[in-house]
Order: sequence, then structure tokens, then C-alpha cells
Amino acid sequence: MRIGIDFGGTNYKLGLFSSEGEMLKFEERKVLDLTLEGDLLLNLIDSVKEFCGEKKITQGGFATKGLVNSFTGMLEEDIGIANLFSGRNIRDEFSKALNAPFVVDNDARAYAWGEWKFGAGSGSQSMVCMTLGTGLGCALILDGKPFRGSDPVGGLLGGHISIDRNGPECVCGNTGCLEFYCSATGLIKAVKDEFTEFKKHDDVLPLYFEEYSRNKKKYEKVLKEFNNNLAIGIVNVIHAYGPDTIVIGGGVIKSADYFLDDVISLVNKKAWTVPRGKVKIKTSKLGNKAAVIGAAFLPKPK
Ligand SMILES: [Zn+2]
Repeated sequence: MRIGIDFGGTNYKLGLFSSEGEMLKFEERKVLDLTLEGDLLLNLIDSVKEFCGEKKITQGGFATKGLVNSFTGMLEEDIGIANLFSGRNIRDEFSKALNAPFVVDNDARAYAWGEWKFGAGSGSQSMVCMTLGTGLGCALILDGKPFRGSDPVGGLLGGHISIDRNGPECVCGNTGCLEFYCSATGLIKAVKDEFTEFKKHDDVLPLYFEEYSRNKKKYEKVLKEFNNNLAIGIVNVIHAYGPDTIVIGGGVIKSADYFLDDVISLVNKKAWTVPRGKVKIKTSKLGNKAAVIGAAFLPKPK
């Protein structure tokens, strides 16, 4: 039996899978509960052991945001809570505690692997997955393998393509990164900056899309900018990696009906593919479970 762990800033997800990929158990737990006392990583390992119970684990995978190096098993750099893992060998500590081989990787790469193996990327030879969430994750599956390049940054290009050299300064060191404009966080900021009526709301995007569907003329400005920016990001990724499929994931895709067709037609105009329009652009099939299943099935780096 395999275990997958998808560690986020607020929640972490745990999944148990048969060797064929059937999900046998799934839970989402709060990161905050791990931080009340003691050591975050040891508390997480205890939580995973409790989740697995008596089940014999044959392989495990741990996915987290940040620059995690799958070759060494260490988190190299991050901001926020996952930085508490810095300097620890996450892979070795999990392997020892669960008595099974473990792979650790970036969460976007695990998400991409899940989609390629069991979801929207099935059958693709080379696929890029972009997740539009708190940040903008990106990963490449090349010739049926997760591309790790010079880990940890291999294939993570998407979120940190600069689309405005005069844009805001990013944590990566560059300016005007795509993540500022096309993550869920970026879209929410743009909506709130442009339309003050959304300022006080917590769950802005469903409201915004509802209003947009009623009055396109009034609300289209922000979405047009978003679509154009996302299309430019996707075109850059196509030109860099030459994938046959792009999978778009993350919370924003719940509203994909409002923007995906427009993004696809912009990409088809801008991307220099032969013939134009040959790259398939799809939304995620596995949604918020993609990274947890991907983590459980990630191949070991060489
Ligand atoms: Zn950046």
C-alpha cells in the first residue's frame, strides 16, 4: 500500500492507495494542530503513522511547496511554515519512521505527476501542469518522467516567468513574475483593486464570476487582463518545453468556463506551434487530490 502526503500552508492531505492507484482512504488535516507543541516534522510523522494504522506501507511520497530537492531529500528554501523543515532530511526521516522508501518533491511536480499518471494528462508524452492557487506552481513531465533538471528548480519555470520588468519584486529575486498576475491570489487582488464592492468579501472569485456573468461589460476588464497574462505565460512555457498537453489546475479552474476558451484562442494565436493550436490545453481532472496521489506514485530520482 502507498501513502501520499500533500503538505500546504494551512492544511495537509493524506491518502492511502492500492498499487493500482485506487484511493482507499483520504483525509485533510490542519497544519496548525502540528505546531501547538514539539517538533513540526516529528508531529507530522506521528500523524501519518496514526493515519496508516496497521497498514503495511510499501512506498511513500511527500509533496510540499518551496524548493525541495528530491535528490537529497531536503527542503532547500521556502517562506512560511514549511521553512521549519529547513536543514532536515525529510525523505530519510519519513523512510525510517515508516520503514518504507520515500520520495520528496515540490507539490506542483507531484500534482503534475498525478494528472499525468491518472488524470487529464493520461496518454501525453510531454506535459506541463500549471496550478493557479496561492502561488502559481509549474512542473514538466518529459517523455513520461518528471523533469527535475538541476533540482530543485527544474521545470518550475511557469510561476516565475517575468511578464513585466517594472512589476513588483518577487521572492525569487525577479520582478513582475506571472505568479503575481495569474495565481488565485493575484486574480483576487486585481478584482479587489478594480472593484471596491468586493473588498470586504473573503471568497471573492465565485462572487466576481457571478457578477461578471450578469454584467460582462462592467466586469470584463480584469478578466481580459488575466486571460491575456495567462496566455502569455502558457505561450512562454510552450516555447520553452514543447509539451503536447498543458493541464491547468488549482482553485481557479472551478470558474474555467468563464475564461478557458478565451485563453485557448489567445494561446493559439500567440504560440508558434506547427500547426497552430496543436497543444491541448485542459483543466485538471483530479483537482485537490492530484498532488496527494502524485506524491504516492512519484518515481525515485536517479
Ligand atoms: Zn518570481
